[in-house]
Amino acid sequence: MRALLFFLLVLLLFGVIMMISKRMEMARRRAQQDEVAAEKSERMVACATCGVHVPESSACQQHGQRYCPEHCPK
Ligand SMILES: [Zn+2]
Repeated sequence: MRALLFFLLVLLLFGVIMMISKRMEMARRRAQQDEVAAEKSERMVACATCGVHVPESSACQQHGQRYCPEHCPK
């Protein structure tokens, strides 16, 4: 009987340890994904004419100023 109790206790402990390590692994993975997402997210720049913030790739640059597509000088 004692051996069975001991076995169950060990099993329970093992289960708890597995659960904790799984959670830590998931948290670590999520933190990594957040970092990657932050790196991928584009920088926003303000239009020199209207001040609207647009992604850097869709903004156009002229004379060191950045403009939104609407106020892009041609
Ligand atoms: Zn603008």
